Amino acid sequence: MPITEVDKIWMNGELVDWHEAKVHVLSHGLHYGSGVFEGIRAYATARGPAVWHLDAHLDRMFASGSIYHMELPYSKTELIQATKDVIRANAMDSCYIRPIAFRGYGEMGVNPLAAPVDVAIAVWPWGAYLGEDALEQGARVKISSWKRHDQNSLPSAAKATGGYLGSILAKVEAVKGGYDEAILLNHEGRIAEGSGENIFVVDRGTLVTPPTSVGALAGITRNAVIALATDLGYEVIERDLVRTDLYLADEVFFTGTAAEITPIREVDDRTIGVGHRGPVTKELQDAFFAATKGDDPRYADWLTYVDD
Ligand code: PMP
Repeated sequence: MPITEVDKIWMNGELVDWHEAKVHVLSHGLHYGSGVFEGIRAYATARGPAVWHLDAHLDRMFASGSIYHMELPYSKTELIQATKDVIRANAMDSCYIRPIAFRGYGEMGVNPLAAPVDVAIAVWPWGAYLGEDALEQGARVKISSWKRHDQNSLPSAAKATGGYLGSILAKVEAVKGGYDEAILLNHEGRIAEGSGENIFVVDRGTLVTPPTSVGALAGITRNAVIALATDLGYEVIERDLVRTDLYLADEVFFTGTAAEITPIREVDDRTIGVGHRGPVTKELQDAFFAATKGDDPRYADWLTYVDD
């Protein structure tokens, strides 16, 4: 997906011109994947742009850093301010937000500990990740031949740049096969997640999602959907799923910052439920988008307003 360029990027404490936000070709992170990052969205509300779950995203970024012995040279308060500043500097109403902290230039070799930690936050407009159409019609997905990496190879609690190589293999295999997205099993054959999304099934009115121990990222949208569904009166269970649980589900959907709530209409060429967005998925999307727009006061503290 081509990036829509805007004016400024926040980089190491300053707002720099978009094309000046550069790194050296010998940056450690480029060679060894030693970076941690987040994907966040800001939504348009009646009170201007508001960042969805900014606190939780930054907490996860600090947690990802700590797993890799990477201390971020900015506090959470500073990164909250930086996020607001870069949104304001680009006059965005709504946008995708990409903070990244990575081992920079100055050291080579696998040991990253002496390399500097660079931090940047970029924003740009980004629509529906799997296409506007998919939000209603649903995505066509394929179980990948690539497995989700084991917790003791690459911990799924860290959202780290290097960890996405597995997602890349799975995504490219799916796209080249004519599908929209991949679902990865773990090494025990349990459903883990999509290449950049968590997964839910609706089984006779109950929502089921795999526990993060299968190797799925603890998605912030996943948590929000669990809370919204519970408040709507649904039972939500975390339990292991195998591929046939997807084939036979009433509804299946992805959750993620980029994908938001995207229905899945086909898995491995088998039609799921009615073959497009089901009623539970629709109800959850409506609740989700009402909350992101600031229209539901119950979830007011999930939003950080840029102009407070
Ligand atoms: N799993 C993976 C592998 C992801 O990259 C993402 C996107 N960050 C998710 C799940 C969904 O997480 P979130 O809802 O926090 O965006």
